[in-house]
This record gives sequence, structure tokens and C-alpha cells, in this order.
Amino acid sequence: MFSQPISLKFLYFLVLISSVTCISKHPVLIVVSFDAFRYNFFETENLPYMQLIKTKGTHAEYLYNVFPTKTFPNHHSIATGVFPEVHGVIGNSYYDPEIKKVMKMGPGMYNYNDRVKPIWRWNEDQGNGRYSGTFMWPGGDYSYQGKNITYSVGFQAGYDWKKRVDQVIKWILDPDKPANLVMLYFEEPDTHGHAFGPNSVIIKDLLEKLDNITGYLHAQLEHHNLSDKVNVVQLSDHGMTAVSPPFFINITQYITNGTYEWAGASPAIQIIPHEGHEDIIYSALKKGSKENGHFKVYKKSEYLDRWHYKNNPRSPPILVMADEGYALDDLIISAPQYAKKYNFTLTNQSEFGVHGYDYTVKDMHPYFMAIGPKIKKETKVDPFNTVDLFNLFCAILEISPTKNNGSSTPASHVLAAAGPGKYSVGTILMMSIGGVLVALLLVSLAVVFTLMAIKRQQNITTAAALNKRFPQTFQNYIEAQHLLEPEEA
Ligand SMILES: [Zn+2]
Repeated sequence: MFSQPISLKFLYFLVLISSVTCISKHPVLIVVSFDAFRYNFFETENLPYMQLIKTKGTHAEYLYNVFPTKTFPNHHSIATGVFPEVHGVIGNSYYDPEIKKVMKMGPGMYNYNDRVKPIWRWNEDQGNGRYSGTFMWPGGDYSYQGKNITYSVGFQAGYDWKKRVDQVIKWILDPDKPANLVMLYFEEPDTHGHAFGPNSVIIKDLLEKLDNITGYLHAQLEHHNLSDKVNVVQLSDHGMTAVSPPFFINITQYITNGTYEWAGASPAIQIIPHEGHEDIIYSALKKGSKENGHFKVYKKSEYLDRWHYKNNPRSPPILVMADEGYALDDLIISAPQYAKKYNFTLTNQSEFGVHGYDYTVKDMHPYFMAIGPKIKKETKVDPFNTVDLFNLFCAILEISPTKNNGSSTPASHVLAAAGPGKYSVGTILMMSIGGVLVALLLVSLAVVFTLMAIKRQQNITTAAALNKRFPQTFQNYIEAQHLLEPEEA
């Protein structure tokens, strides 16, 4: 039978096994967004870490994002699986007809539809030890349905990138409330892309840094023995295209100051005519569009159905949309501000980054890649919709999705087959060894306890018998036990 030192070794193994699996008992998912990381940056840049994830895991050449291809609408469609007309984040800013004010980032922007639950809220609603975290994800630090999630950090420009990753890992490894879902956001290459354009050396440098932080994230997962347990989805909200000053169009020259409000930014400007000025403004802009030839004007009834943008009171009465490669009045104002802020000379050759065009414009396409125990290996899937991601997240997390606008087909193409096949060889080996060791430990403990019980029973019986026969002192009892030793063999 096992001696005591061997039993201790088994206990040590048990502790070792439990320390390895000391994360959430549920599937774990990290969603990483690089704002404005265009789908084809991989073609021109050397991005070894991201290329590795792309090759080893599952990727799509690009995603079809939602209209307008702006940051806040898209991040919220990624998180909720519904179109902007449903979640209400119809732009990075919009005019609220009820309070008659231009609204920007804030809880009011996100709390439009109380039935819409972002994935972080929905994950925690399932209970049973599911905890969510959002790190700077747009809209991630607001309460939904009157509740906050367990972990949340609001946007802080310039926050150290490695510290973001370290914090995410800490949430996942938290001994009391281990996060099983974390949404992690990086504001580049968007921030500098707007000021320098997507073709600049500054952006090349930032893409390399984003590649390095990807390497750092996966190295940290490896370091904490989490690579086989954590699924990582990496994506972006939209791409970006370059626009120069000769392609800036002044649309407000066609309409009279003081007869309208406006919101949004190039290439899509929302026009809200004051009462009684609707027809005049629409006709004037249409006339301007015909003259200029590089922007289009829509009234609400003309918004394309496939935009899923029209059925919401926040959706503007008129939308002016620059053609690809063109921008509008807001960039005429902000271009010299960028030049001043970043200390460069504004010329006709200066390039600025613009996004927000129709999602069919190729430069607006975001990227998608995923890797982890629940993700197919070395697989390429067809481009799919941003609103389909919610179903994919739910499938990875093994929770039923809420009602949404997405399809579940892409998830079925991205996910590895259920059952043992979903685990890596390493995980299966670890689980098997762990299982055998635990079984052996339990058997050995059972044998040891049984033997001890038998021995105790024998001792009691024998001692009682001896005591009856030899009602003597304790010393006699010891001696009597000694006499019985051979019987115990
Ligand atoms: Zn963005």
C-alpha cells in the first residue's frame, strides 16, 4: 500500500492541477478591438504576431460593418448584435429631437433601448459565477438595465498599453471573481490616423506597436498557462481612407446659417432643418450635390433599407454623404487644428484619415481573427457581418443569445466542433493526467481509510478481548497490541 510520503506527493499534484485551472469554470473570451485597423494592413505591413494568430486560428478577410462606419455605432453593434437603428447609437454624435441638443459620448447615447443588452451585461445576467470586464470599450463603462458589471475601466487616452493587458489578465485570474469575458479597446490607429492619414509613417509605426501588444497579450496568456483556456477574438470597428484638402467640400455654402442644426462628422453630416425650412434646405443641398458631383443628399425616407439606420427618432431628417475620397466642412475646420496640434505644415498634399462611408466601400472594412480552445485552427471563413459577432461570442461563452439582428452561421464556421475535439491535445493530456491522478488519490485515500478503520476495529476488538482476559494496565495493553502485530500483516 501507499506510504504517507507518496500520498503527500499526490496531494501536491492535486494542488498543482487546481492551480492550473484556477480561472472561471466557464469558457473564457477576450475581445480585442484596434480602432480603425483596416482589413488589408496585413498586405503592406510586417505584422508577424498578428499574422501568426491569423494563420494558426480562424480569420475572415474582412467584416461588413454597420452604417455609418464610425466608432461608436460599430462598437455597440459588435457588443449587441443589433443595428444602430435598434441600439440607438446612430453616430459618434447625433441631434436628440426630444431635448433639442447635439448629444455626444455619454450614458444617454447608449441607454436608448432598454431591451438591448451588450454582451458584457448579458454574460453576467447568466449568473453562476460569470463575470465581465470592459477595458475602455466604447460604452462599456455605463450601466445597462440599471446595473454595472464587475470590472470596468472608462476611456483614458494614452493609458499604457501593457498595463491594459496586465489588468485584463488580473481580472481573468481573480481568485474570487474570475472574469470569463473581457472587452479590451485600443484607440489606435484611429487617433493618429485621423491627423496623418492611413498611409503615413506614423501609422506604420503604430501598426507595429499594435502587433507587438498582440504578441505581449499572447505571451502573457502563455506565461500564465492560459493559452489553452482563453479564446481571443481580435477585430476592428472600421478601416480608414486618405483624403487631402483639394477634396474637402464646403456644403454649408448651399444653405442659410441659422436655419438648421448639424451633427456628425465627415463623410456623413446630419442636417436637422429648423421647422419650416425642411424643403428649402433639402432642395438647396440637392442642387449643390448636382453642381459639385462628389456628395449625395438623402432625406430620411430615402435612406437605404440595408443601412438599418432610418427607423429611429435620432436618425436625422437629412444626411449629406461625401463620395469615397472626399470630406466635408468639419474637416475644413479640423485640418488646420490637426496641423497646429501635431506641428506640421498644412499643404494640398497633406493626408487625413476619414471613415464613415457606406460599409460596401472596401477601405471601410475591418479585420477579424480568433484563436483559442473553442476556435477552429488554420481556417479562413467568408466575410460576415459585424452584427453576427454577438452570436459568436455567445456560442464561445456557451450562453443562449438574446434576440438580435445577426446570423448564427458565421459562428458555426468559426467554432471548433463540440466535444473532446474542441480541446487542444495539451488540454486533453492535462485533463487525462489530472483525472487519473485524482482517481488514484481518491482510491489511495479510500484504501488508507479502510485499512485504518479495519485496524481500529481490530484494535478495539482485540484490546477489548485482551482487557477482558487481562484486565491490566495501559502498559499491558501496549504489550498485548505488540503480541497481535503479526495478525495485522
Ligand atoms: Zn473607430
